[in-house]
Amino acid sequence: MSEKLLLHACCCHCAAYTIQHWKNLGYDLTVFWYNPNIHPYTEHQQRLVALRKMSEIQGFKLIENPNYDMVDFLKLVAEKPENRCYYCFTMRLQETARMAREMNMGVFSTSLLISPLQKHDLLPLVGKEQEQKQNVNFLYEDLRKHYSDSRRITKPLGLYTQKYCGCILSEYERYRDFPPKDDDGLYAPAPRENLYFCD
Ligand code: SF4
Repeated sequence: MSEKLLLHACCCHCAAYTIQHWKNLGYDLTVFWYNPNIHPYTEHQQRLVALRKMSEIQGFKLIENPNYDMVDFLKLVAEKPENRCYYCFTMRLQETARMAREMNMGVFSTSLLISPLQKHDLLPLVGKEQEQKQNVNFLYEDLRKHYSDSRRITKPLGLYTQKYCGCILSEYERYRDFPPKDDDGLYAPAPRENLYFCD
């Protein structure tokens, strides 16, 4: 019998190839949505709706955690914004591992492993921490070389594509560093020395 895998999905574009990859290796896969880091709520919903549409088209199982624990996320990152990605990964993988254990699934993983835009080295670290805490195995593979393959799967589907990583800090950085051409000075950069964000 195939081993059951609960795969955390950060977005449909990262999930697309990741789902195929683990399915091809024989896992009985269920996709799991829990991303309270995504700001604002409307952005969170747009990304979720895109994943739902992909689930309908491709026929994979999708479980959604209905909680949008934005306040918990903000409390964690407000203390130490420079460590925000560690807290962000921990919150999401902790909930994925907890859910996997509750559902008697042998392994958990995340679509974040395919993204070259993430702090990749933190992911196996956080995955292993949660593996030990929750007693469910974390499935790790560096899938970053397949990021464009994933985009090739979703491009013809015309699904919503996000413009920043997810949290309010990443939204600020995105528009600070790459303002739209017709911004009329709206996105003029703030002095960097006053900021405590990850670079
Ligand atoms: S930059 Fe991305 S991974 Fe890091 S805290 Fe923000 S949303 Fe999470």
